[in-house]
Amino acid sequence: MVDVHGVRKSFGPVEVLRGVDLQVRAGEVTVVLGPSGSGKSTLLRTINHLEKVNSGWVSIDGELIGYRRSGDKLYELRERDVLKQRTHIGFVFQNFNLFPHLTVLENLVEAPVSALRRSRKEAEETAHRLLDRVGLADRAGAYPRQLSGGQQQRVAIARALALEPKVLLFDEPTSALDPELVGEVLDVIRDLGRTGTTMIVVTHEIGFAREVADTVVFMDDGLVVEQGPPSEVLDRPQHERTRTFLSKVL
Ligand code: ATP
Ligand code: MG
Repeated sequence: MVDVHGVRKSFGPVEVLRGVDLQVRAGEVTVVLGPSGSGKSTLLRTINHLEKVNSGWVSIDGELIGYRRSGDKLYELRERDVLKQRTHIGFVFQNFNLFPHLTVLENLVEAPVSALRRSRKEAEETAHRLLDRVGLADRAGAYPRQLSGGQQQRVAIARALALEPKVLLFDEPTSALDPELVGEVLDVIRDLGRTGTTMIVVTHEIGFAREVADTVVFMDDGLVVEQGPPSEVLDRPQHERTRTFLSKVL
């Protein structure tokens, strides 16, 4: 389970996370909604320690991320140990971020071999299985530039899965796509949800949230304003700010 506890984060004088608490149980899908600038990306980035928090902490399966505890004090982990933790926190970005000079297969094989010390053969077998799962079994030899945005994003998801993540974080995975390609990517994420992958998905796709999320979290101004099942947060929001936001995006 992912546990975000009292996380605060400032950039200079501006506090963009103002005490965020969030729990995501194993196998559950949490969708995070909120206006631009509310701190959604920063929250995801604190979960894998791409941003250091100013206070609070994040743990995954009971393990603190980026720190170790000694008595009641937290000490920063060495970069090497943070990288090891980050290996098991999948991150899928808006802009795919595939290695352009590597084939699809190589994109999936590189990290398991270098970071998990898998044999090449084993990594390739896993890669083929994952490509099949995202509907791209026949594109293993292609280069990213030869694929559509939707295909590239599905490769990026398979690449994240190849590292056997404890949790997958998605930051607006479909917002850089042409509208006709959004569905194929959401379908893949939906299937992962059904098979029990723990996920936190930042998206503006309300229909997807309604269908796939176990929990919907609405953030505004660096705080979780409300959270609950889609049937509550989307259909019977308790807070004015949630209602205003939903009326704009629905
Ligand atoms: P969007 O929907 O536009 O992606 P968001 O909810 O993801 O927005 P964040 O990207 O988390 O919002 O940004 C929250 C606030 O923090 C914004 O005001 C942003 O300008 C600021 N911010 C984010 N990263 C940095 C940074 N590295 N340095 C300074 N300010 C930052
Ligand atoms: Mg963002």
